[in-house]
Amino acid sequence: MTISVWQRTKAHEVIRCDVAIIGAGITGLSAAIECEAKGLTCAIVEASWAGSKASGRNAGFLIRGAASNYALSCDMYGRDTTRELWQWTEDNIRELRALGLESTPGFRSLPSCVGAMAQDELDELVRSRDMMHEDGLECELVDSSSGIDDALWRSGKVLGGLLNPNDAVCSPYELVGLLSAQLSATPLFEDAEVYRIEVDDSGCVVRTRGIEVRASRVLVCTNAYGAGLCPSLVEVVKPNRGQMCAVRPANPDDAELLCSYYLNHGSEYIRRGEPGEVIMGGARTYHADEEATKSDDVTSTVQNHLEEFIRELVTTDYVVTARWSGTMGFTRDALPVIGAVDPAQCPGDGRVWFCGGLTGHGMSMGYKTGRHAIRVMIEGERTMFGLDRFGSGAG
Ligand SMILES: Cc1cc2nc3c(=O)[nH]c(=O)nc-3n(C[C@H](O)[C@H](O)[C@H](O)COP(=O)(O)OP(=O)(O)OC[C@H]3O[C@@H](n4cnc5c(N)ncnc54)[C@H](O)[C@@H]3O)c2cc1C
Repeated sequence: MTISVWQRTKAHEVIRCDVAIIGAGITGLSAAIECEAKGLTCAIVEASWAGSKASGRNAGFLIRGAASNYALSCDMYGRDTTRELWQWTEDNIRELRALGLESTPGFRSLPSCVGAMAQDELDELVRSRDMMHEDGLECELVDSSSGIDDALWRSGKVLGGLLNPNDAVCSPYELVGLLSAQLSATPLFEDAEVYRIEVDDSGCVVRTRGIEVRASRVLVCTNAYGAGLCPSLVEVVKPNRGQMCAVRPANPDDAELLCSYYLNHGSEYIRRGEPGEVIMGGARTYHADEEATKSDDVTSTVQNHLEEFIRELVTTDYVVTARWSGTMGFTRDALPVIGAVDPAQCPGDGRVWFCGGLTGHGMSMGYKTGRHAIRVMIEGERTMFGLDRFGSGAG
């Protein structure tokens, strides 16, 4: 957002704190939880409301791992980093359970299954299984003879899958509520879009039309919208829309999926929803140019594609109960970024930081990553997500 000189109002309220956090999604809320744990004063400013963007609109998979399967990730990031990433996501799920996520109504312990619909992907899953076992990670290769009796396996379209036994699904919006409820001393200002961050000798000033936050440090957690406040992120974190739909099969048995499925290299994902409902998302990869947008609309091309998958994998007899979309922040290597950035108006001098770009895995990584970002920024904790790996953005 830009603001004309006429629209600037004198801030009604000035808040002073150690850390200003911009964005109340999973990342920003988790960062605020860590600030409180460290005894740092903090305030969150949010353009809409907590969980209004990707964090409240996603599929709710708490799946171990990263965007690619284990074997491909090892090829891409190296074996040590991959093992560390898988451990990171396992810890993230465990820490969310410890926080009380299991008692939210939408939570369900459910194995996730990375399913292959083509032989080359199945070969990668076999390789992944072997490497994961060597690295001490529990998983199991399954197929239609493994006794998982649900619509997906009955469809005969899935050749095989790699089962992660300790995964779960939840309502992402309930997760946002759970994270918000952890905050006891941090004010959350909603409907407060930040239009500018300024840095001067006295510290950082985060400007919205109604309030002004003055802080020693700023952590920008606006994910796909990062480049709006920090232009140096434009090539680092790119917006990509993800579309979803929910359907109610005529036969309730078809909705009883026994795993949450992540198919075609994660391009499509499908899970059970409310009783009698199936939730499906993806098909973005077939419409990549159209989906490189921040718009929260749905399109008939992608929605039709999703319904084709429903008919192929679940049932031809169903009614659609909801359609929606959300915007993810993608990085080139599909890993989050944490680092100092320059805000739009002036050099940040290392006091303005960004954490985001969780690339379709914020549920699986966001809580741990948001908390970690504060420790990286304040204490210099080692990170595998440093922004400097892209050679740009450092303030
Ligand atoms: C359709 C879809 C399905 C997904 N499925 C899964 C899944 O199953 N599992 C998984 O792990 N991940 C999934 N993801 C990814 C996950 O949702 C994201 O990685 C995660 O929510 C990112 O959280 P965040 O807090 O970084 O960003 P967001 O939730 O996008 O939060 C950013 C916040 O910043 C605010 N903001 C932006 N600009 C400003 C400004 N100028 N001033 C103030 N506030 C501002 C926004 O309003 C927003 O609330 C999915 C995403 C989508 C879209």
